[in-house]
Amino acid sequence: MEHELYDVVVVGAGFAGLTAARELSRQGLAVHIVEARDRIGGRTWLDRRLGRELEIGGTWVHWTQPYVWAELKRYGLDTTPSPEPERAFWWAGGRSHEGGPDELLELIGQANGEFVQDSRKYFPEPFRPLARDDFKAIDDVSVQDRIREQFPAGAHRDILESFWALNFNGPLENAALTQAFRWVALTNGDWAVNFEACATYKIVGGTAALAAAILADSRASIEHGFTVEAISDDTASVAVRGADGRTVRGRTAIVTVPLPALKAVAFEPLLPAAKAEGASLGQVSQGAKVWFRLRGEHAPFVALGGADWPLNFFQVEYTLDGDTIAVGFGPDSSKIDVDDPAAVQAQLARLVPEAEVLAVASHNWVDDPLSGETWPMHRTGYLSTYLPAMQAAHGRVLFAGSDIANGWGGFIDGAIESGMEAANDAASMLATGRMAVGCMQTRKMADGRSRA
Ligand SMILES: Cc1cc2nc3c(=O)[nH]c(=O)nc-3n(C[C@H](O)[C@H](O)[C@H](O)COP(=O)(O)OP(=O)(O)OC[C@H]3O[C@@H](n4cnc5c(N)ncnc54)[C@H](O)[C@@H]3O)c2cc1C
Repeated sequence: MEHELYDVVVVGAGFAGLTAARELSRQGLAVHIVEARDRIGGRTWLDRRLGRELEIGGTWVHWTQPYVWAELKRYGLDTTPSPEPERAFWWAGGRSHEGGPDELLELIGQANGEFVQDSRKYFPEPFRPLARDDFKAIDDVSVQDRIREQFPAGAHRDILESFWALNFNGPLENAALTQAFRWVALTNGDWAVNFEACATYKIVGGTAALAAAILADSRASIEHGFTVEAISDDTASVAVRGADGRTVRGRTAIVTVPLPALKAVAFEPLLPAAKAEGASLGQVSQGAKVWFRLRGEHAPFVALGGADWPLNFFQVEYTLDGDTIAVGFGPDSSKIDVDDPAAVQAQLARLVPEAEVLAVASHNWVDDPLSGETWPMHRTGYLSTYLPAMQAAHGRVLFAGSDIANGWGGFIDGAIESGMEAANDAASMLATGRMAVGCMQTRKMADGRSRA
């Protein structure tokens, strides 16, 4: 069925799409969001599992992240800290260790401080990563190569590799050193603040509360169950066609789908080679996140295993009815069945043998065709060769999303930032074209007709 002409069709109702839609619809433009899932939030998903609400995808936010922080203030949403760990376990030098969390942080810091010391040199303006060319000299260097070159085999190297496999949620062979430096540059070169940003403050009411607040503040209409399979631009308008034949048209479109999902969309005219190749290459982050329930109450702990373990990081988050709820991460989702409590137990037991896993909960974001990855982390060469191409408009079609953000790419913050930028670009594009249909839409609504 053919719908009316919108000013902007937004593909995807994750944070990038929701933000872009709010910004544009509040300017009086007619905006329609099409989303394949039956919910908003994309790679953030607050769901009831294991007896309580759990963040299945993106979770932690931080005051160093300006876009998400401003949104929280705007909607009066607070944050709550994850528990301070009281015990730490780690794997180094071929054996397990137990000590205080400060001891583990100190060990990470001894090596990591040295590893990332040049981050601001390469990224003096971290929210404009492409502003200067210096980073190009190291964009082909992998995190693994640099660590192995800089640190002899032993405890420091083990810990550093595992720490960065955690951050990339993927193996390090192709993980870009520039991505590691970019991250740390965003917290002014301070890796400990960066680490805090990744796993300390959660949104009260969850990511769902923020996504719902943005949507409620928007005048955009939204259509769920709409899996876009083709986008064609005839230079006057853009037709966005769903797999079930539904088509919506816009004067412009903003596509916010993750890179692996972009590959499944047929563009007419074809995407330029660099853009198509960038989508095909995708990101390093092919890992797993799993929640699990432990028998009994455990004092909060953190545990860092080996870089190549199927699950290499664990952190206690909650207690529930006398049990403990913890979260685990691993760099390769194909190496573990995270739906199997025994498989999760086996990994945790390598460091915390007394803990008994009763039940597990997760979502395989890598096998999910609407994501195909977890939090986007660039591979070597991506920043110089592909990021500019992925960010570029294609005729009347604009692109956004945490995969291609300038600042905190890979985070909710980057998704919001890129949604804002795409909205600005779309508004400029429309301003240089003919009168926006939003004016007609507003008149219709005044007549009492609901939005699509
Ligand atoms: C396990 C995990 C843990 C994470 N942890 C954190 C964290 O702690 N802190 C943090 O800041 N970030 C975290 N992230 C990253 C963060 O969640 C994402 O970077 C951010 O939510 C991405 O937003 P987005 O709008 O760019 O993309 P998405 O959220 O992926 O939104 C894209 C939308 O497009 C839809 N879509 C895809 N294909 C189509 C199609 N063909 N047609 C129609 N719709 C389509 C999808 O369903 C989705 O809703 C995590 C992510 C994961 C998966």
